[in-house]
Amino acid sequence: MPGKRENYLSWEEYFLLICLVSRERSKDPRTQVGAVIVKNNRVLAIGYNGTPRGMTDDEMPWNSLGEETGDLFQIKNSFVIHAEANALNNLPLGTDLSEATMYISLSPCSECAKRIAQTGITKVIYFQEYKQTAQANLAKYILQKAGVECVQSHVTGLGEKLMLIGEKIFLEEEKQKKQVQKILYRKH
Ligand SMILES: [Zn+2]
Repeated sequence: MPGKRENYLSWEEYFLLICLVSRERSKDPRTQVGAVIVKNNRVLAIGYNGTPRGMTDDEMPWNSLGEETGDLFQIKNSFVIHAEANALNNLPLGTDLSEATMYISLSPCSECAKRIAQTGITKVIYFQEYKQTAQANLAKYILQKAGVECVQSHVTGLGEKLMLIGEKIFLEEEKQKKQVQKILYRKH
């Protein structure tokens, strides 16, 4: 139709940006990951890496100082649930995931790959490659064997899109501030 806005987000950009914004909820100083489960272009659930319900973020060993000594209580991974697992945990019970897609800001680890494969999700689209190559390859092998397509997104310029979105929000905030100032001025 004529007059349609041109620079709107594509579905893939939209879901990847949801992952990239959601990961900002993570308390992990080193790795922040966001995941979103989508079916028929509808968001079913969102997750980011964090501690289980009931465990306080403030008590967790985020600096993971136990890795050298083998002290499990001082290793963050003893407690952290990955974004993909949390997204799955956040689904309403009994959700049918056939033909569903999981978008992730980072390619999955093997543990998450196993869980994803078991759910019936048919496609995984990730933004960035997991830096531990052996783990990443194992995860991809699991997904491939299970018949789950796992691909890195071809979308580019997400940072630029987000900057433009940021600029728009910034201008709206400025406008809002000015309106508040005007009202305050009128009151005096
Ligand atoms: Zn994982």
